[in-house]
Amino acid sequence: MNPSVIAKAAKSALSRVEINFNRLIGRELVPLETTILNIETSSLCNLECVFCAYVKKQSPKVSMKDAFFNDCVRQAVGLGFTQFELTPCTGDVFMDRHIFNKFEFLDQHPEVEAFRFFTNFTIPNRSKVERLLTLKKLKNLTVSIYGHDLTSFIAITKSTETVYNRLIGNLKTLLENLDRKNFNLDIGIRTTNDAPRKPVSELMELLERFRERGIRPRRAHVYNNWGGYVTQADVAGLAIDVTGAETVYKRGACAHLFTTYQIMATGIVNGCACRDVDASLRIGDLNDAPLHEVLSPDNPAYMALIEEQQRGDFRPACKSCDYYKSIYHMRTSRRKDGSEFQSIEEFKDRLRIAGHPASDNLIKEITDTPLNKPQPASIAKTTVTPAK
Ligand code: SF4
Ligand code: SF4
Repeated sequence: MNPSVIAKAAKSALSRVEINFNRLIGRELVPLETTILNIETSSLCNLECVFCAYVKKQSPKVSMKDAFFNDCVRQAVGLGFTQFELTPCTGDVFMDRHIFNKFEFLDQHPEVEAFRFFTNFTIPNRSKVERLLTLKKLKNLTVSIYGHDLTSFIAITKSTETVYNRLIGNLKTLLENLDRKNFNLDIGIRTTNDAPRKPVSELMELLERFRERGIRPRRAHVYNNWGGYVTQADVAGLAIDVTGAETVYKRGACAHLFTTYQIMATGIVNGCACRDVDASLRIGDLNDAPLHEVLSPDNPAYMALIEEQQRGDFRPACKSCDYYKSIYHMRTSRRKDGSEFQSIEEFKDRLRIAGHPASDNLIKEITDTPLNKPQPASIAKTTVTPAK
């Protein structure tokens, strides 16, 4: 068995005691993260990685129109969001031909503090990579690399040598300009378990040079089945193990339902940005209702999703998900960084207060409102007195 899967199972077994104890005494640890919103600007991808649900997903593969995106941001800022995560559930930000309009909008918006995203880095050309270096509010960029040489890249991504060479070229551009970047750079590698340890390809040598400059590429060893979308047959012939998350102990609502909701490229608001490519955790649609009505304790779809997980009812995407984090478990990283928590009722109170002053500016009605339009006061730092 894959050692990383065993380690994950062991960790889960240890957390079981804490989860059951906290559940028993009613201690809910909903993270107090009120400022980050996920917006999927594009659900299109240029690669077809064998361990990804992208090829099999049924949801539309589209990019979000700039006006729609701008209004999402305006509504979100009105609710107190100041940071934006643009990584698609599956897809790549650079498949949106107008993505730099969106980056510039965020960069210039006075209420936006930061944005970040992951990319497979095989799409932009040199001038676009250089343009990334000029963005002031891009705080985190993660480059996801698939394969460790040309052969494994093509085997995993079903792409071409030309695309591989673009990746190599973009990594070189980034390396040459490391001193100019304003963002934290992370590199993640997903490749076969039999990849050599020593750098035997131009790609691996380049990664070695990043390491020498203090950027240590992280290697992932666990490949999830995405709610059954991906099976071992999809990775046949490659040293890759696809697993479910049967060993992850699940009790209580997942913390991501309170922190990681995502506006998808279609305008659908999904309860989680992690493993649900076909939006089975859908809680609303911004084509029909404003964001403050979707992220609301008065939204029955949203509240039902939380309540069903509290009862132990998990939909297929969640059943097999390895990102699950129980609201009855405090992760070591959160313990160390002194994170604050709230109960579910306190979370609802915050949503209620956040939504109260927001305008009912339906996205479809507003497209070109100037940036200096008065915004409702941010509640991000508002202190909420919990309901008795
Ligand atoms: S893993 Fe990422 S790059 Fe690969 S197909 Fe899926 S979304 Fe695209
Ligand atoms: S279990 Fe997974 S898919 Fe479900 S809400 Fe949690 S992180 Fe998202």
